[in-house]
Amino acid sequence: MDRRAKIVATLGPASASEEVLERLLQSGVDVVRLNMSHGNQADHRRLMQRLRRLARQQRRFVPVIVDLMGPRYRLGEVVKGPRTLTAGQEVFLGTRGRETDLPIGDRELLDHLRAGERMLIDNGMVELEILSCQADGVSTKVVHGGLVATRKGINLPDTDLPFTISEKDHSDIEFALREGADFLAVSFVGGPDDLQAVRAALRKHGGMLPLIAKLERAAVLPALDATVEASDGVMVARGDLGVEVPVHNVPVLQKKIIAAGRRVGKPVIVATQMLESMIEQPRPTRAEASDCANAVFDGADALMLSGETAAGIDPVKVVVTMSKIIVEAEAYRPPSLEDFSDRQPEPLLPGTSEQVNINPDLDKHLEIPDVVSAAAVYATHRLDVRQIVAFSQGGFTARMIARYRPRTPITVFTREPDVARRLQLVWGARPLLLEDELQHHDQVVKLVDRQLIEAELAQPGDVIIILMGVPIPDRPLTNLMRVHRVRELEKTAT
Ligand code: PGA
Ligand code: MN
Repeated sequence: MDRRAKIVATLGPASASEEVLERLLQSGVDVVRLNMSHGNQADHRRLMQRLRRLARQQRRFVPVIVDLMGPRYRLGEVVKGPRTLTAGQEVFLGTRGRETDLPIGDRELLDHLRAGERMLIDNGMVELEILSCQADGVSTKVVHGGLVATRKGINLPDTDLPFTISEKDHSDIEFALREGADFLAVSFVGGPDDLQAVRAALRKHGGMLPLIAKLERAAVLPALDATVEASDGVMVARGDLGVEVPVHNVPVLQKKIIAAGRRVGKPVIVATQMLESMIEQPRPTRAEASDCANAVFDGADALMLSGETAAGIDPVKVVVTMSKIIVEAEAYRPPSLEDFSDRQPEPLLPGTSEQVNINPDLDKHLEIPDVVSAAAVYATHRLDVRQIVAFSQGGFTARMIARYRPRTPITVFTREPDVARRLQLVWGARPLLLEDELQHHDQVVKLVDRQLIEAELAQPGDVIIILMGVPIPDRPLTNLMRVHRVRELEKTAT
């Protein structure tokens, strides 16, 4: 299927069965997410095993993102059922448990709250202002009233909250390592140091995983570039972000975060409420359809589904709908060489009018693969090229090419199944496992022809661009671009 932006589907009760999961993969889910805020490890484990088995059967690489709950605060148990708060009313939130109070689940939270700060409950539906702080709770005034119920989430956009890794997070990190997750998503990241803290926790548990920084706090925004740099990918986590910052800032932030990711070649996922109404209805709103298309126009690597696939009435239909919207959007506005960032573009090649931004942030030693990648993408605009073929030991070259958003698919040969899976999050990347050990680049070309034809990804006569690092035995980064016409397979004597 000719789609470049990827689809991430959150799994849950609605998508746990063998049948639904199988059809989800067939409908084009590229990546799955397990949200550790819900469910238990035993269920997540079963889901993951089922997924791996189905992916193997379908000969697909499907990576799993384990998404940590992180420092998410919640109300405790609201006794006697949900309560309605009205504007102007004073409410005490605390741990002492009087009937007129609202309970706070986490005692440590109280240490960080200050008078004048806002407390938002249930995705910002109810807003409180803190009047004063006591040892066992805070007095607040209701600014926007509404219904509050047990375990509803609390957002504190004004509070200087430390990033913490709870016992549950530690246990989920262990789980992710033990079960062979492909990515760890880190909720409520405040800056690059928080990612280092998670890396330290991973090391402590005896492993390492690529980290997806979920950008959903106001506090992370001043450190956006450094956080993107320190991550292996980021998520525009619009659910919490839209509560922590004014919702009218979210569309522009989405564009800025995507641009920041692309500048350094880190995949960006746009998440939350993408087809929200399909949780309950068979058709999305027109605004949701436009939102998905616009995430594609903004240049997102992947679009994520949450409740739509985890708990909705028809997860398969949601994926089919999203996939069609993406395909239409990409057909309408295929990628161009126009500058994608807010920096001055530099000429790609002397004497051409085409402009492309050679990434100024990359280290010097990465300039060669970056320039060769840019040249390959430029060539796809001048020649009738069917695909770019790259070799990747860790996925870096693929990300460098994807940064420039070529018109063609990027077929990436790698020796590592782990790398092949992780490449699924990258815009336009199509991973293939390299079958043979190779010494010379003429052998590479033969092997590419054979594997592409056998996988029905190319036909004799197709023009393709092959990127590699030569001499092969030295394993340098990509430094060679070859324009090649796919040849008929040689008949082997029997
Ligand atoms: P969540 O993260 O679904 O885990 O809360 C995404 C978001 O906040 O948008
Ligand atoms: Mn969130």
